[in-house]
Amino acid sequence: MIRSIEKSLLTHDETLVELSLTFMNPSVKPQVKKIPCDLCLSDNFFPLFEKESSRNENFLIQKCGSCGLVQVNPQPDLEAVKPYYSASYFQKRTDRGYNNYFSDELKRQLFKVYEMNLNDAGFYQFEKERFYKLNIQKPSFLDVGCAAGYFVEFMKHRGWEAEGIEISNDAASFGIEQLKLKIIVDDFFSSRDLKKESYDFITLWASIEHMHSPVKVMKRIHELLKPSGRLILSTCRYGHLAKFRGKDWRYMNVPEHLYFYSMKNMKRLAAETGFNTLKSFSYGSGFTAKKDSGFAYKAGKIIMDPLVKILNQGDMMVFYLKKI
Ligand SMILES: [Zn+2]
Repeated sequence: MIRSIEKSLLTHDETLVELSLTFMNPSVKPQVKKIPCDLCLSDNFFPLFEKESSRNENFLIQKCGSCGLVQVNPQPDLEAVKPYYSASYFQKRTDRGYNNYFSDELKRQLFKVYEMNLNDAGFYQFEKERFYKLNIQKPSFLDVGCAAGYFVEFMKHRGWEAEGIEISNDAASFGIEQLKLKIIVDDFFSSRDLKKESYDFITLWASIEHMHSPVKVMKRIHELLKPSGRLILSTCRYGHLAKFRGKDWRYMNVPEHLYFYSMKNMKRLAAETGFNTLKSFSYGSGFTAKKDSGFAYKAGKIIMDPLVKILNQGDMMVFYLKKI
């Protein structure tokens, strides 16, 4: 979820995303094995390059020879990626401290980015319809991988029956205890608290690239949405900026990120799992403003961020989808 605010001021934006991963079958031995393409089931791949992880393991980045989806393949299974989300990992990422991380200032920045993404997607029109045209008193909303629940809180403030699902108790407990939010701490795929066709709106902020089967995730979301319900998802975008930067691209974090979608690939994923793409757009140039960054760096951000947005060449993308 937090990844979507890359263009705001955060450089430690990954922590909560990592916390929201799903871990299953802890007793199984870790495995890294070649798998067919999740999107098109092809076995035909072209190697692009190898990338070293933060734990000094090498992973091969390949492009599907059939649909073009860029991915880590052979793919490490859940058990094999687990060490990348260990306690020390979180500690490293949260060296500014929890209090600071959950500060009001950060929340204000986040809310601003949410507003902007929803506005750019055209979501508010749908919201109006649900409240006024369909006269639903409290439309229902679910944030998948909600971490501490900032976006759940955002939607609750807007009058929605808002809830989140989160596998990590550490991340969710802040939202449950401090923010008094409804957060289900459970596995997204098997949770019995999630009822079919019960949500008007679902979000998946910067999580799908971490998932072992994005197709499975989309199908699960599809069954949870009401007819003509909406999904907004964001993910890093494999486009010109990514190709230009290669293995140094800011989102080429492996094996935390397993899939690198192009806009075309994402449209196909949406269509094949039962969604109409109502709107898609990109943003973010890789210039992340830091408080202590120099003038040239800040100027780069001021120029580049709007430019990539106008040219639709950002390396983050947002998809606004309607269940067919
Ligand atoms: Zn493919």
